[in-house]
Amino acid sequence: MRRLTSMKTMAEPYTELLDATIRHLEGLKEQGVRFVAVSPENLAALAQAPRPQAVQAAASSRPVGVPSAKAMEREVMVTAPLIADPVEAGPARPVLSPEAKAAAFEDLRARALVCVKCPNLASSRKSVVFGVGSPDAQLMFVGEAPGADEDEQGEPFVGKAGQLLTKIIQTMGFQRSTVYIANILKCRPDTPGQSAGNRKPTPEEMQTCIPYLHEQIDLIQPKVLVALGATAVEGLLGKTIGITKLRGQWRSYRNIPLMPTYHPAYLLRNQALSEKRRVWEDMLAVMEKLGAPISEKQRNFFLRP
Ligand code: URA
Repeated sequence: MRRLTSMKTMAEPYTELLDATIRHLEGLKEQGVRFVAVSPENLAALAQAPRPQAVQAAASSRPVGVPSAKAMEREVMVTAPLIADPVEAGPARPVLSPEAKAAAFEDLRARALVCVKCPNLASSRKSVVFGVGSPDAQLMFVGEAPGADEDEQGEPFVGKAGQLLTKIIQTMGFQRSTVYIANILKCRPDTPGQSAGNRKPTPEEMQTCIPYLHEQIDLIQPKVLVALGATAVEGLLGKTIGITKLRGQWRSYRNIPLMPTYHPAYLLRNQALSEKRRVWEDMLAVMEKLGAPISEKQRNFFLRP
């Protein structure tokens, strides 16, 4: 009986600490945090069962080698600020080694490529259009969903609207390979009974697919996000205000500056110089935010002579 009591005494602080840590991590998860940085020392300490020496340490309230709940909390808090709104909360920013980041990115891609969460899209698609560009990009563009060309080629923004986006990126002084391009939806929205045409993703499809994009953004950690069109804004910020009102005004997605602008498909439909200039002004603001050089010629694009 005495032996049982002393075992209990030994394990209690450890169990309490573990419970407190689990509660804290569950709280973070509920708020949309998907990564927390934990030092190798703390991980190793947590992996150990309470050792006999811990009995003495129990007098000072925790087992040897196990960080205090406060220390754990401080470590988690540094990288995962507790802010109620997950859209506004900064992403937990683990410092991953290049190898760990590449592995996490490949794991994410592998999961997305076999996703069948939307059975209708999984059965109608030709490809899962994961994304393209550099996982270390400072600038990330987010569109709505793949169209027929993207579904065919397995790459976002390769059709007519995509070619215009590529032009915009190059005019800014970047390349498709140095930025990152992805969509809210990774599959082409199906159009049963129609041989052509596109449709807007449903709220359910967006909700189902968006975790992949959130993970992509968390891994890439771009300095600036550009949301192309109303669906991208809605997916990232949950806002349904018209893009005409929102465009050109900085917003924030989990502490990353986000610039809403028109979708390039809109510029194809509306060829007015004034609309081109609006998008270009948004891109100039993005370049300024990134500290990219801007020439006089670039500043004056789409201004009337
Ligand atoms: N439109 C989008 O929103 N995304 C694409 O990938 C292509 C067209």
